[in-house]
Amino acid sequence: MDNMKSVIFIAPPAAGKGTQSSKLKELGYLHISTGDMLREEMSKESKIGLEIKDIMAKGMLVSDDIVFSLIKEKLKNNTKPFILDGFPRTLNQVYLLDQLFKELNINDYEVIYLDIDLEEALKRALGRITCECGASYNIYYEALRPKKDNICDKCGKVLIKRSDDNEESFQIRFKTFIENITPIKEFYLNNNKLHIIDTKIGNDKITDKIKEILK
Ligand code: AMP
Repeated sequence: MDNMKSVIFIAPPAAGKGTQSSKLKELGYLHISTGDMLREEMSKESKIGLEIKDIMAKGMLVSDDIVFSLIKEKLKNNTKPFILDGFPRTLNQVYLLDQLFKELNINDYEVIYLDIDLEEALKRALGRITCECGASYNIYYEALRPKKDNICDKCGKVLIKRSDDNEESFQIRFKTFIENITPIKEFYLNNNKLHIIDTKIGNDKITDKIKEILK
């Protein structure tokens, strides 16, 4: 594990970043998910949480300042390989992150793009129910349903539907992603960091490919 590389996941919503992150967490990675951190701020009803509530519910992007301050705090004192899940999402965030990596001497990382089409991503988002413990289920896929309706197989807690996993908000999140992604991909391609994985190959094969890339 010690010499595994860090990873930045960039992917449309519901492409499986969370699922793949959980697998890497089992290996000892630090999981940094901006979406999770922002949802935590909302549930604490912190100043940031109250400020971002409406923006998040609509599926729009939170300001770079807020998201970057959360990321910076996590990375500053970290020594483990890490997963960045949901950041960067704009070219400005790419530049902020690149600058931070230079300051913190972070070089040993790869960027993985999980490719998925709109139709499949929509089905995944609308059927998705998650648990506080990080487990994720999907009512539209036989193999991904929890054993007991709405209860987490792993820890027994009641499952939650994300407030932004509705069709209207999802369409905005997907569209926002597509609008921003081209220069981000170009940046990492030019830096020889970009790897693209087609999500059609299925979760287990995706995990194998990711582990191979991060070795
Ligand atoms: P996610 O869990 O990654 O799908 O993110 C859920 C929501 O959190 C997004 O729709 C945005 O409103 C917000 N968010 C997460 N990451 C970022 C980011 N890097 N920049 C701006 N907003 C973000």
